[in-house]
Amino acid sequence: MNKEDKKETIEYCADILYKTADFSKVENIHWIGNPYDNGQSYCSECCEKKVKELNKELKLGEEDSDKAFVDGGWDGACCDGGHESPELCDSCMGRLDYSLSNSGTMEECHHFLTTDLTEINSNTLIELYHVFEGFSNSDFDDEEIKDIYKLSCIVLSSLGKRMGIESRFELLDL
Ligand SMILES: [Zn+2]
Repeated sequence: MNKEDKKETIEYCADILYKTADFSKVENIHWIGNPYDNGQSYCSECCEKKVKELNKELKLGEEDSDKAFVDGGWDGACCDGGHESPELCDSCMGRLDYSLSNSGTMEECHHFLTTDLTEINSNTLIELYHVFEGFSNSDFDDEEIKDIYKLSCIVLSSLGKRMGIESRFELLDL
């Protein structure tokens, strides 16, 4: 199978995962704005709570220009070049949106290649989606494409067994 065919299968898999995974509880990444950024990622609720606590601790009020504030929260709020691993809220472990760097994509790919994917739960669907999204965001060499392709075949086979052929067509609007 040539590279273009492999890429097509990988993109097809990303498409299926995007339509299958439930992103409704996934929030954009928030963090405490500089200079109080502690390197942690939060959901909006936890970030607001942390900022409030911090301002209380620092005795800073609404009128203080150097008060701590909630930063981030926009679509694609992300560290430059992508994340190394899936992002969760550091406080409540809620799911956050992220995209993976090249090395993060391959690390996740190898993790899933050694994981039993007979049953794929909703969290795993989201994490798998980000592997294939990471693939489409960047360039990978032949060996890496081979591994991501291998993963896409495993995922497609597992999802295919779970859903009947009709619902697969439905998903793809065929
Ligand atoms: Zn949270």
